[in-house]
Amino acid sequence: MKAIHLKRGRERSVNRRHPWIFSGAVERVDGNPQSGETVDVLDHTGAWLARGAYSPHSSIRVRIWTWDADEAIDKVFFEQRIEAAINARRGLRDEPEVNAYREIHAESDELPGLIVDRYADVRVVQFLTTGVEFWREPILSILASIGKCRTIYERSDSEVRMKEGLPQRALHVSGDEADEEILIREYGLQFHVDVRQGQKTGFYLDQRENRKIVRSLVNGKEVLDCFCYTGGFTLAALVGNAKHVASIDSSANALALARRNVDLNGSYSDRCEWIQGDVFTVLRTLRDHDSSFEVIVLDPPRFAPTASTKERAARAYKDINLLAFKLLRKSGALITFSCSGGVSPMLFEQIVAGAALDAGVTAKIVGWLSQPQDHPVALHFPEGRYLKGLVCRLV
Ligand code: SAH
Repeated sequence: MKAIHLKRGRERSVNRRHPWIFSGAVERVDGNPQSGETVDVLDHTGAWLARGAYSPHSSIRVRIWTWDADEAIDKVFFEQRIEAAINARRGLRDEPEVNAYREIHAESDELPGLIVDRYADVRVVQFLTTGVEFWREPILSILASIGKCRTIYERSDSEVRMKEGLPQRALHVSGDEADEEILIREYGLQFHVDVRQGQKTGFYLDQRENRKIVRSLVNGKEVLDCFCYTGGFTLAALVGNAKHVASIDSSANALALARRNVDLNGSYSDRCEWIQGDVFTVLRTLRDHDSSFEVIVLDPPRFAPTASTKERAARAYKDINLLAFKLLRKSGALITFSCSGGVSPMLFEQIVAGAALDAGVTAKIVGWLSQPQDHPVALHFPEGRYLKGLVCRLV
């Protein structure tokens, strides 16, 4: 039998339904399981606790599939879990204004390591861990057969796969080769999404509701969108009737697509300014030129993927928030985000408070932002809550 035996006391997190078992909790491995193979998880007395996927290289040695001893891990298991996740998005599927959303959100949909994003009739899949990699073929065939899905792409080219000892992979998997870019709708706006070369699966779907909120905060205002990627918040600000939007990103490709996205939605280009560069440097230059804005959006990439990189990330968050506060006019609004799993909502608030103090401004939080319903957080898996945002208003 392929099984792992836990050290005494290490069954506690398993009993609380946390899906990760760290290498330090493992006393012994029986049966020489291969990467991604299913193992039984036993406590130090040999009693059965759960069943999960073995990952020999990762510090997360097992990710749990089930706590039910009678549940086999086979194609039927994946059919049921995948269907349940997709059905849970029925509300979004029926929302005429939106046709791009996350269909499967890994651990929080009881499918550790599996991400599926839906862009119109195209699915983009990421296999991020050994468990889903092991079951890749059946999972792809299930995804091809559920719902009206024309094409599947795989974007398993995320760096987190390296920790699992898995190679990078990005390819067209099945169905028609869709057009170079896919056209999606988000609350009446249209975006081109480059599912082959774009970041992650092509678009930051997790900011959908927050982009909508930004629309309501910018009427007649001068806006700065930092880390604009393909123009999500920039377009939200433009349709929200911002007077002027300056947008910064370091990626030339992202900016090129952002410009095209703006043109796709109307005649806004005379209200836009594009700046290619490093946000840290550009914000300092703007400050040196005494520039100022009424609304600033800060949506940086993940500075702290894990708790161990927290310190360095905290400094980076403080830096950009401090600079942004200095660039804000009286009564201006800073909409600031962190998508780092290693930075808790509490820590993020403390960092932003420290930044305001050092910038010499008085500000208050007037809104707490998070991730949308298609990026759920399983209650027993608090790590699933990665996106947090604050709307801060200057006094
Ligand atoms: N707000 C965007 C998503 C931002 S993703 C949306 O709603 O779609 C983060 C972006 O930051 C990426 O486009 C990446 O190219 C950019 N980026 C990363 N580091 C940067 C830096 N130091 N300076 C400027 N842009 C950076």
